[in-house]
Amino acid sequence: MASTNSGRTQKIWRDGRLVGWEDATIHVMSHVVHYGSSVFEGIRCYSTPNGPAVFRLREHMRRLFDSCKIYRLPLEYQLDDLVQAAIDTVAANELEACYLRPVVVRTGEQMGVYGVSAPVETFIIAWKWGAYLGHDALENGVDVCVSSWRRAAPDTFPALAKAGGNYLNSQLTKMEARQDSYVEGIMLDSFGYVSEGSGENLFAVRDGALYTSPIAAGILSGITRDSVLRIATDLGLPIREQVLPREFLYLADELFFTGTAAEITPIRSVDRIVIGEGKPGPLTRRIQDTYMGIAQGRIADPYGWLTMVPTPAGVER
Ligand code: PMP
Repeated sequence: MASTNSGRTQKIWRDGRLVGWEDATIHVMSHVVHYGSSVFEGIRCYSTPNGPAVFRLREHMRRLFDSCKIYRLPLEYQLDDLVQAAIDTVAANELEACYLRPVVVRTGEQMGVYGVSAPVETFIIAWKWGAYLGHDALENGVDVCVSSWRRAAPDTFPALAKAGGNYLNSQLTKMEARQDSYVEGIMLDSFGYVSEGSGENLFAVRDGALYTSPIAAGILSGITRDSVLRIATDLGLPIREQVLPREFLYLADELFFTGTAAEITPIRSVDRIVIGEGKPGPLTRRIQDTYMGIAQGRIADPYGWLTMVPTPAGVER
């Protein structure tokens, strides 16, 4: 049965070639199907007054290389090759704004967990994706819970790798949260400290200082998290990267998620306990405005975060 995907585009980059959407397939015997051997990225390209701009493209591709290194996936590309491939994918699909999904998978047709001799294939998919946590999430905030599922212990699944397999844990968290009528779940780490959402990092504000969990708390080292830390530093906000107990969430003046898909999403309640005044707080708004302003080219980008996508010949903008 064909699935529908409203964000679907024309071309997918497949190991150096742009192929039709329908031709970016792999065999059911592929190692990744049975053993979860994939790593991937999620990148946003924003529409700006000067054309499409990919947000922090190099940093995302660097993390893809890091994930490959952790899982011993040999990539036959240099960082610059994949940066260019991402730009080509946006241009070939004539997209103004999109979500980019580079994914590296072990394929082949040989069974068995030990997959080091399986072929490694790389794809870059572009599609149209709106607000990840719902339409009014960015404006009004979301209601979330603390999940009964924990983030994996540090000596189990490496959290710094953005690997497909990690998202089984995320899926359990998300399904539980949605089942219980929450938008998202926050996981604690294996020691019981706050870790992150199923696909987002987490920030708290209390008495004007910004708090976030360290990478030792089983988080993915988010690129949006890094962007927020840099924006907050330049705004002169005190930053505390430290382990946080669950109840600190309830006592926060403001809370928000960060992520490429989720962008800066305010949180208005946790476990039905209202956070602050139950609406996005002033620091959340300030950080959100700065982040979105830079990403959408409305305010100057002092950090060099945007990679412009040239207009392909013959395409009018
Ligand atoms: N944690 C998890 C588990 C994620 O899937 C994501 C989304 N990639 C993030 C955090 C946020 O990372 P980033 O800001 O780089 O998108």
